[in-house]
Amino acid sequence: MRILLIEDDNLIGDGLKTGLEKLGFTIDWFTDGLDGQEALYQAPYEAVILDLGLPGRDGLSILKEWRNKKRLEPVLILTARGDVDQRIAGLNSGADDYLGKPFSLLEVQARLNALIRRQSGQLTPKLSFKDVSFDPQTKKVCKGEKEITLSPKETALLELLLHNKNKVMSKEVIENKIYSWDDEVQSNAVEVHVHNLRKKLGKDIIKTINKIGYIMEDA
Ligand code: CA
Repeated sequence: MRILLIEDDNLIGDGLKTGLEKLGFTIDWFTDGLDGQEALYQAPYEAVILDLGLPGRDGLSILKEWRNKKRLEPVLILTARGDVDQRIAGLNSGADDYLGKPFSLLEVQARLNALIRRQSGQLTPKLSFKDVSFDPQTKKVCKGEKEITLSPKETALLELLLHNKNKVMSKEVIENKIYSWDDEVQSNAVEVHVHNLRKKLGKDIIKTINKIGYIMEDA
């Protein structure tokens, strides 16, 4: 799940980027309001974490502009703890949720997962396909009763395909959704991840649609 993070505090921004990447998210981090605002139009993000006090342009006006332009990405705003006025202004400007600083990484993760789930119309926290189940919060993957170990990018690909069941995903779209601007991507990276997922989860778990892409398709 690729997330846009806009936060000018280096300690908080670095902590979020490093921590969320360890949890399997793909993070593009911007410290300037104007750069961050533009970034939303440059890559497919599942959600945004937005600080309100930013150099360049403040969070609330960024958010208002996105919503005016009909951008529907879920936005989690970061506010000062106890600042009720900020929270209200944020929610009224189109934010979907807020977190008061300081916050715990696991709470950020849980809120992001809830926002992404709601956005994709997912009713239950767990995702499943055939005999494979996946828990976005713990990242635990099971085939039947057996727990399977996946690499972070394999996990990201599995989660992406589960969120888009019965939809063909092109290699380009997959690359854009599981890699950040900072990642160096080998040209056959997606093929390798698909190969590994089939080896670990069963060869019919992902179907190749010739020259178009990949799909997890219900029979
Ligand atoms: Ca700030």
